[in-house]
Amino acid sequence: FKQILIAKHTKDELNEMAMTFNRMIKKLEKSYEKQEQFVSDASHELKTPLTVIDSYIKLLQRWGKDRSEILEEAIDAIGSEANRMKYLTEQLLQLARNEEVIENEKETVNIVPLIEGTIQRLQQTFQYTIYFNREQSDIHMKIHEQSFIQLLVILLDNAKKYSEDDIDVELKETDETVSILVKDKGVGIPLEMQAHVFDRLYRVDKTRSRETGGSGLGLSIAKRIAEQHEGHITLESAEGEGSTFTLVLPKKKV
Ligand code: ADP
Repeated sequence: FKQILIAKHTKDELNEMAMTFNRMIKKLEKSYEKQEQFVSDASHELKTPLTVIDSYIKLLQRWGKDRSEILEEAIDAIGSEANRMKYLTEQLLQLARNEEVIENEKETVNIVPLIEGTIQRLQQTFQYTIYFNREQSDIHMKIHEQSFIQLLVILLDNAKKYSEDDIDVELKETDETVSILVKDKGVGIPLEMQAHVFDRLYRVDKTRSRETGGSGLGLSIAKRIAEQHEGHITLESAEGEGSTFTLVLPKKKV
């Protein structure tokens, strides 16, 4: 009787283990499929500018020596497509960055002058003003500085790309959190698309994004950096009225 009991017990346990394994395998299969899809999408993104470069080189080989207007057009196009590839590659490298390295390289930094400096630097290339509203001058947080700056640049760059008005950056603090709000009065994002904008290579308007030089990777990188700091990004937006992206970071990491 005891043996039967043990056998039944083991059988139940084995069944449960088998079910857990099954769930794990399904999860792995799903993430593998996602990974495969991403590699294929990313390769496609890199292939597009390469195809353009290739066809311009062919054009140059044929007409470049005799026609100066073709020479000029080709050089411009090759230059801008090469830049696009460089930007894409940098973003892909950031996505592939090792989590452990990021964790080890975190330092306690006063984020107020860091945000201010980033804004000032970007301001030089913007045609409109970025206002920085804050009451504090010192907020020390444990961050990976380079990634943190990259996150800010992604949000500010998007605000610029998708609006033609001044941008507001606001710093808010509670006992538990620090929030950085990036507000634009631009095109906004339709409600049904808001959940997807943080997905890799997702773009609301593919034609427009290509014109503005977007890759669809920016927000997925921003989201990942926020998570590497135990934070998250929220989005409030209305079509035609603008968007507010808010980075919320926990204070306990100070
Ligand atoms: P992209 O490089 O195309 O800008 P992102 O991942 O940064 O890629 O953004 C994904 C998509 O989300 C963009 O293509 C755009 O459609 C939308 N988006 C992002 N930021 C804004 C914004 N501030 N206003 C309107 N749409 C935005």
